[in-house]
Amino acid sequence: MPRRLLATLVGAVLQAALALGLTAPAAAQDFDLVIVKGRVVDPESGLDAVRSIGVRGGTIAAISDAPLTGRKVIDAAGLVVAPGFIDLHAHGQTEETYRLQALDGVTTSFELEVGTADVDRWYRERDNGRLINFGVSIGHIQVRMAVLRDPATFLPTGDAAHKAGSKAEIAEMARRIDEGLRQGAVSVGLGPSYTAAATPWEILEMFRVAGRHRASVHVHVRGGMTGLEEVITGALITGAPVHVVHINSSSLSLTREMLQIIAEARARGLDISTEAYPYAAGMTEIQSANYDGWEQWPDERFGTIEWPVTGERLTRETFRKYRGIGGPVIGHSNTDEMVAVAINSPLTAIASDGYMANGIGHPRTVGTYSKVLGRYVREARSLSLMDALMKMTLMPARRLEARVPAMAGKGRIRVGADADLTIFDMARVVDRSTYRQPSLPPEGIRHVVVNGVPVVSEGKLVPGVAPGRAVRAPR
Ligand SMILES: [Zn+2]
Repeated sequence: MPRRLLATLVGAVLQAALALGLTAPAAAQDFDLVIVKGRVVDPESGLDAVRSIGVRGGTIAAISDAPLTGRKVIDAAGLVVAPGFIDLHAHGQTEETYRLQALDGVTTSFELEVGTADVDRWYRERDNGRLINFGVSIGHIQVRMAVLRDPATFLPTGDAAHKAGSKAEIAEMARRIDEGLRQGAVSVGLGPSYTAAATPWEILEMFRVAGRHRASVHVHVRGGMTGLEEVITGALITGAPVHVVHINSSSLSLTREMLQIIAEARARGLDISTEAYPYAAGMTEIQSANYDGWEQWPDERFGTIEWPVTGERLTRETFRKYRGIGGPVIGHSNTDEMVAVAINSPLTAIASDGYMANGIGHPRTVGTYSKVLGRYVREARSLSLMDALMKMTLMPARRLEARVPAMAGKGRIRVGADADLTIFDMARVVDRSTYRQPSLPPEGIRHVVVNGVPVVSEGKLVPGVAPGRAVRAPR
């Protein structure tokens, strides 16, 4: 065939292909970043295949089975490429906790349970960008502490835990919740377990405000089944969606029953969701109202509590001493069997309830996601990879996206979505943090990309980057 004819034919075929959108000339593309040859797993579309991803301007611009080229290349051969993990429940929200969460594959971190009493200020403090994306709720715990002038900073130890609110005080709390939502809070936080003196009526008043804004209420329920029933009632009466935080530690031996109630309420059309973290021990403040009435405990119960600074298990005497000092404690209160029920349930999103300050904290802060992938997906095979990723990405995104449209661009790998991506080695991924060494980063989380910028590369933090953006409801 004459050369000129061949060239014309090739040109015509290429043009036709281009017109049909079948191919894009890879070399001509100008991506900021390409992630090549990875196993792309996306719970929204069900895609599970080797693809290359092209990122431009912080957004996924191409997903292709042909090679792509760009200024930066991540070779993901042999690795899983997943949407970045979205954590609906993470305390701290400091550089220390963002670093640990990034190493565990988290690209968006929310403080929705305790939240804040001042939404504008909370976002202003993070204005210049953070390592990962972040967002907050207007939190009834914090608002109640401000209105009742509680002396504590994180969880109440004074009147916010122990005093019933007057009519005027409850009205002031409702006003501040409303104001926080108008300032773009992602949701409403509620913790009647910590604000034990808040009456069912007060709790319902907060649900009413959330209902008017169609904001989900993220609740640490009071103990036992009645705590769950209280918030189901609140959602039913007010129309506010409700999200029960850490069903594992709120249900303990009743985990199957509480999950059944949530499933039944959903089947009746109630907008209720929940979450779990994969550890049999929890962590909270020793001075919190959760431990009110400790004087009546039997001796052996103190031994379930660990003082993380020293690793010692407590006695009646040391509990009294540390309750006077204050600080976080590890409560060994659940069983591995019940934790597995919670994690394996199709109802639960994975959320860390992370907590770390100056190296003192809970191993879940840096181990939650790698632990579920390593222990549940690879070792126990009780969860498929797709189902586990659903719980870490799409499910938390969907929980928030009715109120926060930005979340519709997260938790999925599709053209136009935010380039938040977590790239890991399924053969090796596993947590390494322990109660004694809570900050040990996991193994196998190889690359983490936030808004198109790598924040973890080859398992190590990338210095000097802060691509994380505020996630906020429209104001
Ligand atoms: Zn929490």
